[in-house]
Parts: sequence; C-alpha cells; structure tokens
Amino acid sequence: MATIRLSSGHQMPQVGFGLWKVPNDVCAEVVYNAIKTGYRLLDGACDYGNEVECGQGVARAIKEGIVKREELFIVSKLWNSFHDGDRVEPIVKKQLADWGVDYFDLYLIHFPVATEYVDPSVRYPPGWFYEGDEIRPSKATIQETWTAMESLVEKGLSKSIGVSNFQAQLLYDLLRYAKIRPATLQVEHHPYLVQQELLNLAKKEGIAVTAYSTFGPASFKEFNMAHATELTQLTDDETIKAIAAKYNKQPSQVLLRWATQRGLAIIPKSTSPARMKENIESSNFDLSEEDIATISSFDRGLRFNQPTNYFPSEMLWIFG
Ligand code: NAD
Repeated sequence: MATIRLSSGHQMPQVGFGLWKVPNDVCAEVVYNAIKTGYRLLDGACDYGNEVECGQGVARAIKEGIVKREELFIVSKLWNSFHDGDRVEPIVKKQLADWGVDYFDLYLIHFPVATEYVDPSVRYPPGWFYEGDEIRPSKATIQETWTAMESLVEKGLSKSIGVSNFQAQLLYDLLRYAKIRPATLQVEHHPYLVQQELLNLAKKEGIAVTAYSTFGPASFKEFNMAHATELTQLTDDETIKAIAAKYNKQPSQVLLRWATQRGLAIIPKSTSPARMKENIESSNFDLSEEDIATISSFDRGLRFNQPTNYFPSEMLWIFG
C-alpha cells in the first residue's frame, strides 16, 4: 500500500476507507470487512454518528489478530459545535472512547463553521442545528480552534492534525499563526471539481490532500440533491467507460486512479465487499497523461457538499 509522508513525519496510507453514511446496524461488520480486505486508513467523524460501531469493527479485527492498532491509521473530525477552545479536548476524549482507542492518527476540523455548543447528553451527534431548525453561530475563531487542536498533538491525543473543506484564503490565514502546520487538507474532489489552484497551493505548502466523494454525484444522489440527480453517474459516462475498457479496468477504478495519480489520497466508501476490493485495487495500473487530462477536462467547478445545497436560503445567513 502506497503511503504519503505528512509534514508531521507520519506516513498516511494513500487509499483509505470512508465511513460517511455507513448505517449503524452494519457498520461494525463493514469496518471489520474493510480491514480484512486490506484497508488500513479509516475515515470517520463525530457527524457520521457511527464511531461506536466503527470501534467495534476495529476491536474485532484486532482481537482476531488481523491487524494491530499501530498498523491502522484512524481519522476523525471535530464537529462544528465543538469549535470553542475549551470544548475540543473533552469531545476528542469522548470520540476516542467511542472508537475504543487511545489516540487518533489524524484529527481534522470538519468544516470552517463554528456553531453553538450542544451538550452530547442532550443530542449526539448534534448535526447543524442548535434546536429544531435553528442554526446558531458560535464566536470561536479558526485560530482559537486551531490552538486547541495543537494541544491535542502535544497531549498525544492525535498524532497529526489537519483541516477539511477549507479554501485557499482560510489556509493562508491559518498558516500565519499555526505552530503546528496542518498535515492534511480533506476536500471534495472529482472530475466535475478539479480545484487545481487549491491543489497547487497545498503542494507548495507541504499539505497532503485527501479527496472525498471521488465518484462525484454518486454520494449526493442518495439525498436526491437536485445538482446530483440531473447528472449521470460518472461510472456510466461513455468517455470514462471507454478509458476503463482500454485498461481492462472498472470505470470506478479509473476515477480513483485519476485522483491518486494526481498525488491525492482517496477514501472511497462502499458497504459491498466486492466494491471495497475493487476500490482498494485501483492503484495497480497507470493512466496515460492524455487520459488524465481528458478526465480533468470534465471540470465545471461543481461542488455538491456545501451548506447551500442542504438548507433553505432563509436559514443560510450564518454562512454569508
Ligand atoms: P464516494 O465518492 O466514496 O461515493 C460513495 C458512493 O459510490 C456510494 O453510493 C457507493 O455505493 C458508490 N460506490 C462505491 N464504490 C463503488 C464502485 N466501485 N463502483 C460504483 N459505485 C461505487 O462518496 P463519499 O462517501 O461521499 O466520500 C467518501 C468518504 O469521504 C466518506 O465516506 C467520508 O469518509 C469522506 N467525506 C468527507 C467529507 C468532509 O466534509 N470532510 C464529506 C463527504 C465525504
């Protein structure tokens, strides 16, 4: 398994397993199967609401001797309602307890959005709303949150720290005061959202990039999101299918390889063992430069995972 060396000095597997929308009732089994299939990076989050079950899958794999804790690379994320500096460490400790581990390998700020604290005993995971359908902002700045994130590394609660869903301006700001630089940036990335300038900036600053939602609309069709439903699956696209046929690979493998050949880490999600295998075996061939350029030319700056696609406009004043 290829790895990417992070600025923290740690090695991150280039191909990992995504845990968003993995249903609670099958999650422990799915995580166990993913580890058995060979995945070593697990990409979780408070917001996915399945960290207890993820931990159960990990515990079973360790108990059966398939893997040791130190061979896994467990990623989790700080949810929006825990951005206040004094809320970070307690919630990380809860998340570690949910997973049943002593440290995360990587802990990310999930979104550059701070909302008011919701006590985990009231609702967990809290989601976007304070109560009912009210989104209430918190006054925490990114600097306040990042300083608390840095203390997680100092205390051994996470080996590396990073950010997600940050654009260039926020990265520039963060880099001005970061004592520990973000090791990774996790962003939406697929042929419809190539983000070359952001990738160039991350490379220049030594920040590894993890691509999420590599299959583009596939993940968002599950919500019937308007932008997604009107598009054909990228795996059904004639150009992608023709490229796949040329290499005797699946269209899904072409989409994943396009991302890894662009230097990114990937974290595809599937609950099906056959697709899990297909996805982890996506790096054993090379696309030509010409085919990479053809896939990149699909770019239309189309972002699915943003608050404006989830909430009615009258609720969105908080996001500017
Ligand atoms: P994805 O690109 O992994 O797509 C998942 C969809 O593709 C599912 O419908 C699945 O059934 C299908 N699929 C998976 N393998 C396939 C294959 N081989 N052939 C055909 N279809 C296949 O989308 P995702 O889950 O949105 O993203 C991956 C992971 O990234 C998430 O699980 C999560 O861990 C992470 N993520 C992070 C953020 C963030 O804000 N940081 C946002 C979204 C996702």
